[in-house]
Amino acid sequence: MCPEKLKIKLNCTNTTERIRDVQRTLWLPREVWIKVVLEKLESHEGITVKALLDSGATGLFMDTTFAREKGFKIEKLKKPLLVRNVDETVNAGGAITHQVEYNMFFKEHVKRARIDVYNLGKTEVILGMPWLVVHNLEINWEKGEVKITCCPPICGRRKQEEKEKEVKKVEKDKNKEILKRLVPKRFWK
Ligand SMILES: [Zn+2]
Repeated sequence: MCPEKLKIKLNCTNTTERIRDVQRTLWLPREVWIKVVLEKLESHEGITVKALLDSGATGLFMDTTFAREKGFKIEKLKKPLLVRNVDETVNAGGAITHQVEYNMFFKEHVKRARIDVYNLGKTEVILGMPWLVVHNLEINWEKGEVKITCCPPICGRRKQEEKEKEVKKVEKDKNKEILKRLVPKRFWK
């Protein structure tokens, strides 16, 4: 509705203020973008990606062109997966025939996962509902902040393992020191 008509209808003196009172924007983006690092399993090369969090997607998707350009190892599926639209019709983009396996790093989180390769256009990666449910992110809509504090124990395992190795190494070194003190120097290897 144009301001003129609105003015007549509402019979107000301050049109701008009235527009603010009666209008709502419905097309604000509801998505959140996060920067993640996808590590290739073979070379351990990390690729930084701007990923779209999309509660409307029932999978994890990586753009076909992006996957090829970045040199991810693309594996063929035994059976293709159908992609449906919201109205249950089959997506014109065809079925999913390939996947990529990688380690995903996001802040303190790390997890190995498989992602469907699909034509996403300009979007590099979409993290849909299965991912959102598992990692249960804390989103502060006011500040635009994303925190990953509710992860299941399976996430961050690698970090945990490294910590455990460190602790063991320290213990080993300590034991060596104690032995050195107890055993006369001539018996040291
Ligand atoms: Zn997680």
